Amino acid sequence: MTTRTLLKRLEKVEEVLKAHSIYSQDCICFPEKEQPFFCSPFEEPVAASVKCPLHGNRFKRLPHIYVSAWRREKEPARRQRLSPQYRKAWEASFPTEVACRSGSRDNRG
Ligand SMILES: [Zn+2]
Repeated sequence: MTTRTLLKRLEKVEEVLKAHSIYSQDCICFPEKEQPFFCSPFEEPVAASVKCPLHGNRFKRLPHIYVSAWRREKEPARRQRLSPQYRKAWEASFPTEVACRSGSRDNRG
């Protein structure tokens, strides 16, 4: 392998690493391909009020669409199957400790 080929390969590796490092330890953004799913229209503004210290806004804001009761019930289990970055971002908006202390979030309002 020539030095030139090796340098080209190193450049590619650096590009890949850069792409992955957008989620540094301090980043609490939702992943681009895993935008947050909100069960109620009250969750979205709460999550939007929490900003990433590195990137500011953490997700694309979309109008809320009604979510049925059975779907709301399944969401916590689904969330556990999503990426660690998604769960970290969700936890930044809705810490488990607070959610547990205030009881079921479906009883609000
Ligand atoms: Zn971020």
